[in-house]
Amino acid sequence: MATIYYDKDADKTRLDGKRVGIMGYGSQGHAHALNLRDNGVDVVVGLQAASKSREKAEAEGLRVTSAAEVAKESDVIMVLVPDTVQGALYKEAIEPSIDSSKTLMFAHGFNIHYKEIVPPPDVDVSMIAPKAPGHRMREVFVGGSGVPSLVAIHQDPSGNALANALAYGWGVGSMRAGIVATTFKEETETDLFGEQTVLCGGVSNLVKTAFETLVEAGYQPEIAYFEVCHELKLIVDLMYEGGLKYMRYSISETAEYGDYSRGPRVIDDHVRATMKQVLTEIQDGTFAREWIAENHEGQPRFKAMREADANHEIEEVGERLREMMSFLKQTK
Ligand code: NAD
Ligand code: MG
Repeated sequence: MATIYYDKDADKTRLDGKRVGIMGYGSQGHAHALNLRDNGVDVVVGLQAASKSREKAEAEGLRVTSAAEVAKESDVIMVLVPDTVQGALYKEAIEPSIDSSKTLMFAHGFNIHYKEIVPPPDVDVSMIAPKAPGHRMREVFVGGSGVPSLVAIHQDPSGNALANALAYGWGVGSMRAGIVATTFKEETETDLFGEQTVLCGGVSNLVKTAFETLVEAGYQPEIAYFEVCHELKLIVDLMYEGGLKYMRYSISETAEYGDYSRGPRVIDDHVRATMKQVLTEIQDGTFAREWIAENHEGQPRFKAMREADANHEIEEVGERLREMMSFLKQTK
């Protein structure tokens, strides 16, 4: 069983007199900064001079300055810029002033685990990774509760890295829900595996392949869209609420029989073997090296794949059908 920390495990006085510097004010950055501020913590936000987020942060009454200045004046530095720019931000803005008096924190382990960032050995390095997008995290906090987080310690020269990380977790509201102990390795590898095989890569390709199969067989694309994409939300909502069992309890017996008898033929041993291969590429660093190189080259293959998929027939059909559904928030 995993170790889970709750409110009683947090010593929030550890943040007394400490300044927390939040690098970035995007999805995670704004939620961390505002939740900490509302819990009475001294917060400063680090952004580039031209950042569009500057106005938003200042409108909330937060102090904003350059990333280098934030690194210099903060006791705790939380890195919440995109994972692909963290290495450069660290080199330019953090490395010049990092020392053993400071704690370096992350919300995802990629850059530490794959050694894109190598902090000095006398600096505490920890992670609080909320298991929710930032906007959800902020909304839940304002509503009086919090979203669960993961905590991990990469290096602990002070001997206080865990206690300090849990205090930070309290500050962003996650102690109200619970904080699960993990490691940078486990968080990074499982996060990548989940998004590649199920959440992003798995689901979108399952939907696309099923859509193409129906359309190639002569069915109308509109009907195909409803059956293999639109209705996915209903099923996922049921799984989210009560697991696979509750989803199966809610669907018809015909659907349930099709699930048990046909599902394993679609997601078969070939898929299992490929999942293992994808996991190996995550574990041995192949994926990370490929993605880091892709970014250094300006993302040519990434942009081409994004463009090709954006022009897939399912997107055009979906856009038209969603126009019919006034209850859907238009996201363009
Ligand atoms: P984001 O893209 O929403 O926001 C990034 C922010 O960084 C923006 O404010 C941007 O203006 C700023 N920025 C970009 N380059 C910068 C630079 N060079 N200097 C200073 N600021 C810069 O990112 P996000 O989704 O909040 O992700 C931040 C971290 O949180 C990542 O490590 C990510 O893996 C992790 N995380 C994200 C989520 C999520 O749901 N989005 C959940 C858990 C963890
Ligand atoms: Mg993730």
